Amino acid sequence: MANGGVRIPVEFVASGGLPQCCAAHGRAAVRRVDFAVQSRVRVDGDRLLSSSPLGVADRIGERARRVEVARARSWPLCRSCARRRSVLFGLAQVLFWGGLASTAAALLIRLIGGEQAAFLGVLLLGGFFAVLASVAPFVAGSLPRITRARTSDDGGCVIVENPHPTFAEQVRGGLSR
Ligand SMILES: [Zn+2]
Repeated sequence: MANGGVRIPVEFVASGGLPQCCAAHGRAAVRRVDFAVQSRVRVDGDRLLSSSPLGVADRIGERARRVEVARARSWPLCRSCARRRSVLFGLAQVLFWGGLASTAAALLIRLIGGEQAAFLGVLLLGGFFAVLASVAPFVAGSLPRITRARTSDDGGCVIVENPHPTFAEQVRGGLSR
């Protein structure tokens, strides 16, 4: 496995027996979340290079067809992970709803008041871009990003990229039990 990822069988991920610390920082979990871990949809470049041409065609066909999903139960999040998630999620909400509200307000003022002031354009455009921009914190604060977890392409295990050594150690300990 490249760059020190840890592979955890899906049965273990669903069992709720995951480590007591988060994968990113190795710090004690203050919250545990249940979520669906998805496999990658896009084609992995270096994996393609290392396999035979027939295997490549097979894999592309397979990927186009389905995304593997694994259920994660009680995934650990430390205080920083949880805070990061709520801050980014809150920011996404503010941008999205604020943007929507300012767009709606601009349109209403224009319609009802018949006003043609320049600030209406700013309100409209600003609102529009805020709605678009809300996608960035929404993705960054999503559980797949925060947990660094994705399901393997065959659906057999969940891969955590660059886990903290403590997390990796606890996973290995849990698996050997
Ligand atoms: Zn953490």
